[in-house]
Amino acid sequence: MTISGAWRRTARGAGLLAQDGSVAASIFAEMSALALRTGAINLGQGFPDEDGPAEVLEAARQAISDGVNQYPPGRGLPVLRGAIARHQHRFYGLSVDPDTEVLVTAGATEALAATILALIEPGDEVVTLEPFYDAYGGLIALGGGIHRTVRLRAPDFQPDPDDLRAAITDRTRLIIVNNPHNPTGTVLPPETLELIVALAHRHDALIVTDEVYEHLTFGVPHLPVAALAGAAERTITISSGGKTFSTTGWKIGWLTAPASLVTAILAVKQFLTYVNGAPFQPAIARGLDLPDSFYTGIAADLEAKRDVLERGLTAAGFAVSRPQGSYFIVADAAPLGYTDGAELCRALPDLAGVVAVPISAFCSAAHRPEFSSLVRFAYCKKVDVLERATAQLAGLVPR
Ligand code: PMP
Ligand code: GLN
Repeated sequence: MTISGAWRRTARGAGLLAQDGSVAASIFAEMSALALRTGAINLGQGFPDEDGPAEVLEAARQAISDGVNQYPPGRGLPVLRGAIARHQHRFYGLSVDPDTEVLVTAGATEALAATILALIEPGDEVVTLEPFYDAYGGLIALGGGIHRTVRLRAPDFQPDPDDLRAAITDRTRLIIVNNPHNPTGTVLPPETLELIVALAHRHDALIVTDEVYEHLTFGVPHLPVAALAGAAERTITISSGGKTFSTTGWKIGWLTAPASLVTAILAVKQFLTYVNGAPFQPAIARGLDLPDSFYTGIAADLEAKRDVLERGLTAAGFAVSRPQGSYFIVADAAPLGYTDGAELCRALPDLAGVVAVPISAFCSAAHRPEFSSLVRFAYCKKVDVLERATAQLAGLVPR
């Protein structure tokens, strides 16, 4: 039986449709399964191996005991919407109305899905930075959009302003910015963000900014797109509690945007999940109200972990690009004689007892070759785990 429907173009958009028509698991699922099967250290999928703040975990238990177990309101519990609005003001000086300009979602993933599906028509162009997070490719295709990319080239992974000018045109409906960037760890400088805002104005495009790593930058402050002059009116800002509070399994995300855009996105969101995670919502609200010391603490902790992994990968012979944010570091395996990162990642459990993911999994088929020797390692892991992994990688024999 031939199964028709949108699944095929969705899988193709995320690079998961094989020649024979079968659908592969996402690279994160494939590599986590490989780690489980082989017992290798999993530096592939980006999730922390330690719990987040005790107050946040306790608040979820308390909410369950208090009976916060039924459907929350469609836009999210007021306690969380209020905390999101306070957070945007405390860190970035942004004023958002918790009643009309905030929407709680099932992770940043649902925020992205509802936004893209709500705001594009088939044939509209959507611009992303490549390598791109796989969900963007899948969702743009699901919505019938045309995916255009601006390449971030090694070693600094910054976009070329002329490439941005060429990609963003009157056909562009959405510009998806991911800052700090997964998988490269790039933090975009203010002048790049300003250029994106100017181009959005010139071509009447909307900006969707995925800022899930907003609190995980090293030595550079996070600058939300919405804080730039003229940006807030056309920007949908997306974040999530998963990374900041080490609760990736709770799937509490949110977006902030002008009221009319939130209403449009809600029209779609209500038929995806309707709502989710009632007792986790007050717990994430608790987290968002934690003092500044918590936030500086998680960034400093992760920066130290980045340094451990960066040193270890360099010692093992990789050429490493130093990330300014996020959970991830990109390593070039070419100096070790490995030019095919996907092949290396499949062999790495045997060769070194470590799992990583190839950057090619974040690229469109046409552009994979230029990124092919690059692999992504996650450093959101305990220091001793990172030390063990790098000690094992040090034994990697050049090919
Ligand atoms: N965007 C980016 C850039 C991510 O890295 C991730 C997850 N790691 C997500 C979105 C999805 O976030 P969530 O788990 O909150 O859906
Ligand atoms: N965002 C995580 C990563 O980049 C994984 C999320 C997922 O498995 N879809 O590793």
